[in-house]
Parts: sequence; structure tokens; C-alpha cells
Amino acid sequence: MQITFLGTGTSHGIPVIACDCETCQSNNPKNKRNRTSIHIKSEKYNLLIDTPPEMRLELVNNNIKKVDAVLMTHAHADHIMGFDDIRALNWYQEKEMPVYADPGTLEHIKRIYPYIFSDNNPGGGVPQVVLKEIEAKFKLQDLNIKAVPIYHGDNLILGYRINNFAYLTDCSKIPEESFELLEGIEYAAVDALRYKEHPTHMSVDQAVDLVNKLGLKHGYLTHMSHRVEHEDLVKYLPDNVSPAFDGLVIEV
Ligand SMILES: [Zn+2]
Ligand SMILES: [Zn+2]
Ligand SMILES: [Zn+2]
Repeated sequence: MQITFLGTGTSHGIPVIACDCETCQSNNPKNKRNRTSIHIKSEKYNLLIDTPPEMRLELVNNNIKKVDAVLMTHAHADHIMGFDDIRALNWYQEKEMPVYADPGTLEHIKRIYPYIFSDNNPGGGVPQVVLKEIEAKFKLQDLNIKAVPIYHGDNLILGYRINNFAYLTDCSKIPEESFELLEGIEYAAVDALRYKEHPTHMSVDQAVDLVNKLGLKHGYLTHMSHRVEHEDLVKYLPDNVSPAFDGLVIEV
């Protein structure tokens, strides 16, 4: 599979509005982070995880034209506010978009975007989506997908295992039961907000511990804040973990 990190920044994006810190003022493109999302391409299928506010720019910048289905992790603004951009994929691909999420997230999508699901929509121009309640385990062509419950503070949201890769963003802790679902993975994208601990996200050290506990060949850190400067983090991390950055493409 080919994985493209479309966005690797926390909810506020980097640079942060009006921030003069070293990371926000850096000229290194790896310190520019849009809101978190990835694209997964296999021989037969193309998945997008989440629809962040910069979804349009992320797909355009990475020349991604094909998305066969969208998986949603949860309904926070930084993961959902690009949902309307699914329209352009409908036009290009001439098909409806299946969107998989847990029941709570599906309810939030309907509440946040009532016009998409209304019969009385004079303007037309709405995304053509088919909302699908996530199953614990399902297959889309050559992708074996498992929904992996993870803690985001006190809330359980969804991570995903896709073949030998797991996407674990907005994660403060993995429940014991979910480790079974992750058995045998080789690579993962792991939430690492900043060096200091945080109630709803893992810190850099906690993310490294998780990579080691899962026995990964390599872990990629994502959902990073401006407290984390790319080159400093590269120096800080062990060999089996690297910071992801917007536009990073890996083969797994
Ligand atoms: Zn987030
Ligand atoms: Zn800053
Ligand atoms: Zn969140």
C-alpha cells in the first residue's frame, strides 16, 4: 500500500494564527502542518481518512484524484470541516461516496451538515454520500479493515487497522482489548501532540512507547502541535520512529 500523509498538524494547524514561535515562523516546509488526514492507496482501492478543513488543498497539493471511500475517526472540527469537499470527488469519479463512521459520528455529520441530507435543497450542489455504520471488521477489495476503539481523553473514538498499517490519531491511550486488533501490524501513524503530557493526546514519549509496545518496524508521528519543531524532533527520536510531515509518502 502507498500511504500519503495529507496533514499532520493538530487542531489549530501550523503555523498558528498570530504565533511568533520558532516552529510557526520556520521556513522549513516540514513545519507547515495542515489538519490531520491520510490517503491510502492499494492495488485496487483508495481510502481517505477524515475530511479536515484543508481537504481540498491536501488532495490538490498531493495530486490525489481517487477516493473510493472515506473513513471517519470522530467528529471534532479538525477532522470533519472539509466534508463538503467530497463534492469534487463525486464529479470527477461520477459516483457516490461511501462514508464509514461510528453511530455517534454519523449523527454529528447529519447535524453539522443538515442541507446534505435534506430533500428540500434548492441550491443543489451537495455531496453525494452514503453514510455507513462501521462494522468491527470488513473488507473493501484488497483492504482488510478493522475499527479499533481508542481513547481520546474520556471518549472512545475510532482508529483503524488497514492490512499491516494502523492509523491512531487523536489517541491518548489504547484500551487493553484493542491491542488484540493491532496484533501483527508493522507500521502505524501515531498521535504525538507535544513533549508534555496532555489529557486527550499522547505525548512524544508516550507515542514512542506505543511504537515499541506494538513491536512496529517503524512508527510515524502525527497530529503534532507547534510545540514540536521538525528537526528537533528528528534528533530526539529513536531510529524506529520519525515525525510524519505533510506530503510524506510511504510504502508499507
Ligand atoms: Zn484532531
Ligand atoms: Zn507557534
Ligand atoms: Zn479530536
